[in-house]
Amino acid sequence: MLSYTTRQCEVDAPLIEKIPLQKGLHVAVADQNAIQTPQAASAGPPGEILSAGLVRLDAVSKSYDHFQALHPTSLSIEEHRRYALIGPSGCGKSTCLRLIIGLIKPDSGQVLFHGHPLDESNIRQVRQRMGYMIQDGGLFPHLTARGNTTLMARQLNWEQTKIDARLRELTDLTHFPASGLERFPAELSGGQRQRVALMRALMLDPEVLLLDEPLTALDPLIRRELQIELKSIFDTLRKTVVLVTHDLIEAEYFADGLVLMRQGRIEQQADFRSLVEKPASEFVAEFVHMLEGPGLLEQKEQTP
Ligand code: ADP
Ligand code: MG
Repeated sequence: MLSYTTRQCEVDAPLIEKIPLQKGLHVAVADQNAIQTPQAASAGPPGEILSAGLVRLDAVSKSYDHFQALHPTSLSIEEHRRYALIGPSGCGKSTCLRLIIGLIKPDSGQVLFHGHPLDESNIRQVRQRMGYMIQDGGLFPHLTARGNTTLMARQLNWEQTKIDARLRELTDLTHFPASGLERFPAELSGGQRQRVALMRALMLDPEVLLLDEPLTALDPLIRRELQIELKSIFDTLRKTVVLVTHDLIEAEYFADGLVLMRQGRIEQQADFRSLVEKPASEFVAEFVHMLEGPGLLEQKEQTP
């Protein structure tokens, strides 16, 4: 089970300086030249703006011991779009997210953020521009909801008034009761823990949200409630989102781009209708039709 480690939350204070981000918030970045805007990173002819993608996997592969979890895979995550990585258990979805956020290193290929390869010199700073949330929340059990949510901002020496204001925004956004902020994760319900995990992921106003089965562990009623709220949060914030799920209907509900994986490879990247109507392989057709009951397209129009 993956969880945040103290090391991930460390900040290398002497390296950092502040550069402006969205909505007037600031995060620490080691070197302004290290991470440029997509336009600055483009290398096309004059006048042409090439999309470098906000995040790109370029022929990235990953093995654990001798097992190839991800074969060389390329994927471009465009700004302000929402993607769902779907596929059967073990097909490499979480591995993709861990590579994007730099928790694991590729064996070959490159992960790029704003066109720049992730490496030791920029990974911690890039991580601060990505919000990451996992299935069981991955909260620190010894920190309260407030402590978990504000940890990174405190490490970055945000002023208390700014931390408090951001926390108020986030409790409003996620409908987390202010009275729950002093509780520890064990004293919160599963749904509340995921709201805290979401607040923590959003605290630094990241450019991209990486959500690894954020609702899977919840019971069906709470899951449905949070699906609706999460979608509304996505609509409000207009962030780039990569969401892992094994539920095709949930994928379609949240995402405009679906990436269906199988055994460490992308089998098809398409919108929902194309997956249903023009499956690229027998596997895709089977994956889609496993869910077929009253008629998948009609069913998804009523979901959730
Ligand atoms: P998914 O998220 O699609 O269920 P993962 O990306 O977690 O799949 O894992 C892909 C494959 O790699 C699985 O077979 C899994 O057992 C294996 N795997 C994942 N993490 C490790 C690890 N740390 N050590 C060994 N094998 C791993
Ligand atoms: Mg997984």
